[in-house]
Order: sequence, then C-alpha cells, then structure tokens
Amino acid sequence: MSDPDRPLAGRHALVTGGGRGIGLAVARRLAGDGASVTVTGRDRAALRDAVAELPRAQAQPCDVTDPAAVDRAFDAAEAAFGPVDILVNNAGQAVAGPFVKSSPADLRAMLAVNLEGVWLATQGVLAGMLGRGFGRVITIASTAGLIGYPYVAAYVAAKHGAVGLTRALALEVAGKGVTVNAVCPGYTDTDLVAEAVANITAKTGRSAGEARAELARRNPQGRLIAPEEVADCVAWLAGPAAGSVNGQAIAVDGGETAS
Ligand code: NAD
Repeated sequence: MSDPDRPLAGRHALVTGGGRGIGLAVARRLAGDGASVTVTGRDRAALRDAVAELPRAQAQPCDVTDPAAVDRAFDAAEAAFGPVDILVNNAGQAVAGPFVKSSPADLRAMLAVNLEGVWLATQGVLAGMLGRGFGRVITIASTAGLIGYPYVAAYVAAKHGAVGLTRALALEVAGKGVTVNAVCPGYTDTDLVAEAVANITAKTGRSAGEARAELARRNPQGRLIAPEEVADCVAWLAGPAAGSVNGQAIAVDGGETAS
C-alpha cells in the first residue's frame, strides 16, 4: 500500500532537460511525491540549482542527441540511485520559420532532440523496466504532436513522431508492468514560449504583449498553461492510480485540440 502523501516513495525518476521550464516543474513535483530524482540536461549551472532545491536529487549532464552521453548519464544515474522506474522525456526544442525557407538540417535538428532523444533515452531504461516488471515512460510531446501549426513544420513532424513512438511502444510492453504515455501541452509559460514571443515580435513588429496574447488565444480558456499543470499530469501518470493508462497522448491544453 503506497503512502497517499508520497505515492512515489522508493521510486527513481529521471527527467531529461530538467534544469528549467516544464522539466523543472516535473522534477519538483515528482520529488514532492517522494521519488528520488535525477535531473539531466546540458546546462550544468541550471542542473546544480535544480537539484539544490530538491530533497533527494542528483544532476547528470546529458545532451539527449548524443548516444554516448545518454549511456554515460544513465549509467551514472543508476549507480547512484538504482534502476530508473520513471523516465520523463522532457528535453525538447522548437524552431520556427516558413517551410519553403527551411532546410533538411532544420528537420534533422528537430528530429534529433524531439524524437531520437526520446528513442535513445527510452532505450536506456526500457529493457531494465521490463526485466523488473515495472516502469513508467512519459514523454512531454505537445499539442503539435496531435494537430498541425503553421511555420513549425519540422517541430510538428518530430512531435507527431514522438506520439507515434509512444503508441507503438505502449502496445509492445502492454501486460508487462510498464506503461508508455505522452503528455501534450498547449502553449505553456516557459522560456520556450518567451523565445516564440521574441520571434513573433522580431518578424511582425507586434509588441511582446500582443504576441503572448495571440498564443494564449489558441487555448479556448484564453491563457497559457502553467508548467505545474503539466507536472500534475505527469505525476498522475507516474503514480499507482494510472496503471491502466497506456498508449495515451493526453492533451493539457484547455481544450485547444478538442475541436
Ligand atoms: P524550455 O526551453 O524551457 O526547456 C527545454 C529544456 O530542454 C531545457 O532545459 C533545455 O536545455 C533542454 N534541452 C533542449 N535540447 C536538449 C538536448 N539536446 N539535450 C538535453 N536537454 C535539452 O522549454 P519547455 O517549454 O520547458 O519545454 C519542455 C518540453 O515541453 C519540450 O519537449 C517542449 O517541446 C515541450 N512543450 C513545450 C510547450 C510550451 O509551450 N512551452 C508546449 C508543448 C510542448
């Protein structure tokens, strides 16, 4: 019987790209639910700050596009806190621009971090999870994994890939104690959206306030999502109540993808 106040006690959670934004909110939330947390990412200073505020946490530098770095970080994480029970594939990036001005390199960059990074990190933990008969793989995809958006074709393609990978793996592991799901946030109030606002401002001359309002209008609730709302969904998927939830791409978007 798990402690309702600490449903993840005894679990080891690893969050990629967890130094800021949604990943940091997830790390905080999982730690609050009792998990030991490994925070991985590229910015060592941000990682240091992140783990300093968490009760039982370690930082492991790791660029998810580098297979050797993923192997190293995951081995070190397991050596310190034991096998990973919960993997949160959060690391991601977005580039924007018209398709006709985009290059194959833009596509490869988006696939490398948003899809291949998920693939590599999941390969780092899935066999062990299956062997132990327990695991939770949760990928922060996007509403861009469910519907299209203009001027972010490579990002949309990569996030659709991440959702497809989630669905395929969910079926492969079903019945073995492991679940694989995606969380699909709408525009969320992080640096990633701040960069999108700066981009819109630079390209259209609109004010930052107008650009933010335009993004918020995509959400039928008329606001940006808070990173903590995404983290709540991740925590639920990681916890004991969600054992039958598998292969889902859960939108946290105020209803944007409902129509
Ligand atoms: P963010 O830019 O604040 O955080 C992204 C994190 O990923 C950063 O810590 C960054 O350093 C890390 N990262 C990027 N490339 C990496 C790499 N190659 N290896 C390791 N780490 C890397 O943005 P965020 O909004 O917190 O985004 C988190 C996730 O949520 C991303 O996958 C993003 O696509 C997704 N998402 C964000 C939004 C949004 O509106 N903010 C909406 C839907 C989905």
